[in-house]
Amino acid sequence: MHIMEQSPDSQHADEQQLLAAQQAYVRNGSTRSLQFRKEQLRALKSSVEAYESRLLDALAQDLGKSEFEGYSSEIGLIYREIRYILKRLPRWMRPRKTSVEFFLRPGSGRIYREPYGSTLIISPWNYPVQLLLLPLIGAVAGGNTAVVKPSETAAASESVIRDMISSAFDRQYIAVETGGAEKTARLAGMPFDKIFFTGSVRVGKLIMQSAVQHLTPVTLELGGKSPAVIAEDADLPLAARKIVWGKFLNAGQTCVAPDYVLVPETQHKAFMRLASEAVRRYYGEHPESSPSYGRIITEAHVERLALLLEGQQIFYGGAYDRRTRYIAPTILDTPSWEDPVMQEEIFGPILPVIPYSTLDEVLQQIRSLPTPLAFYLFTRSRNTKTELLKSLSFGTAGVNCTVLQVASSALPFGGAGTSGMGEYHGKASFEAFTRRKPVLTQPARIDLSLTNPKLQPSMKWLRRIMK
Ligand code: NAD
Repeated sequence: MHIMEQSPDSQHADEQQLLAAQQAYVRNGSTRSLQFRKEQLRALKSSVEAYESRLLDALAQDLGKSEFEGYSSEIGLIYREIRYILKRLPRWMRPRKTSVEFFLRPGSGRIYREPYGSTLIISPWNYPVQLLLLPLIGAVAGGNTAVVKPSETAAASESVIRDMISSAFDRQYIAVETGGAEKTARLAGMPFDKIFFTGSVRVGKLIMQSAVQHLTPVTLELGGKSPAVIAEDADLPLAARKIVWGKFLNAGQTCVAPDYVLVPETQHKAFMRLASEAVRRYYGEHPESSPSYGRIITEAHVERLALLLEGQQIFYGGAYDRRTRYIAPTILDTPSWEDPVMQEEIFGPILPVIPYSTLDEVLQQIRSLPTPLAFYLFTRSRNTKTELLKSLSFGTAGVNCTVLQVASSALPFGGAGTSGMGEYHGKASFEAFTRRKPVLTQPARIDLSLTNPKLQPSMKWLRRIMK
């Protein structure tokens, strides 16, 4: 309330003061030791545990997430990531020794990992808890301070996160700042040492533009249209079940959800039948009363999605209710590539199914579009898998599965091209929040190196050792 009454100028003065306090804190070395980082990761885990039921309630309120979905796709991932990182952090923090070339000896190389310093983490509304806390775990593991900016659109989650973080941490170390576009734009224009942004391509570009002012490095986790390709030899019922699960999870509001399906023309109708059976199996005949089926974040998004359905051939579903923020799991039969539904990221429970005649055609089509965040392939053939994975560009991929590639701390997660830059999760998170600091050490007393004029070899030798 207090913040709401402040003018933008006085808010900005507060933000500048906060950043100055965090920079002083990180620069005096407070956040660097292994022990400190481990303690803070444990403190974060304890506070999520203490707020777990409030977080789950907020997810239900914002997105109609069931307790199972809230735990498996948000809270559980946080516990697992903290455990994974706590176990490995001592090893990752140790300087890595490298051998150097003959002409630099006697000498040895070491690569230290240096915290960036003060970091800013901005997150979206669709997984409002994990998309904020997983990067924060990386920031803590890397030895940084953090200002976190949850999405204002998932208002219930935003409020619990604010209470949780402010009760667990001093603001000079980790602080929550809340607000909308104007606030975020202001924060992104401040001289943080690193910005980690998750959200839309449009806003990602604005964040990068702001970061340019101070040459602040950015990680951008963005979106796009992720294709699912079914090869002729795929197990069609399995593909239908897994695509339906990945698509309608969180009512389609998952950045790595399969956006559309490309299916051999001979199996096109069979796939749509199997997919609708899978929808019935998972959510029943009346998904609106299924406790496992989520809701659209805002009425405005329901309207946006309803517009995408206009003029489309609906094979299954299609019902929606703006007031209850409900859109039925919907399968579209063969929209054209020029239709709005195929021009923008759907980010909702609408699954276009498009037939193809050859895999070459599929390759050409996908290559002609912006690089997807995720790519899914269903096949039993090793050759098909090798050919497609090698020749297509994408952020991450799942073969005979959807979405689950992001659930592993052992696999880096990130986009490519317009779907983003930089990766995180597990070790990649530690790396996203630290930079390499390479050091060459030569003997402290004797000088046997090439820089000693007395020891310089003939040009013949020099050419040989520096070839
Ligand atoms: P968004 O880009 O609208 O918002 C993200 C954040 O940016 C929010 O915190 C918001 O306050 C802030 N913001 C909004 N407008 C701004 C502006 N003009 N200037 C500065 N900041 C601004 O994204 P969203 O609608 O919350 O999320 C949906 C998008 O996020 C989808 O495109 C989806 O694909 C993408 N996404 C990507 C990932 C990933 O990991 N790659 C994960 C989830 C969502």
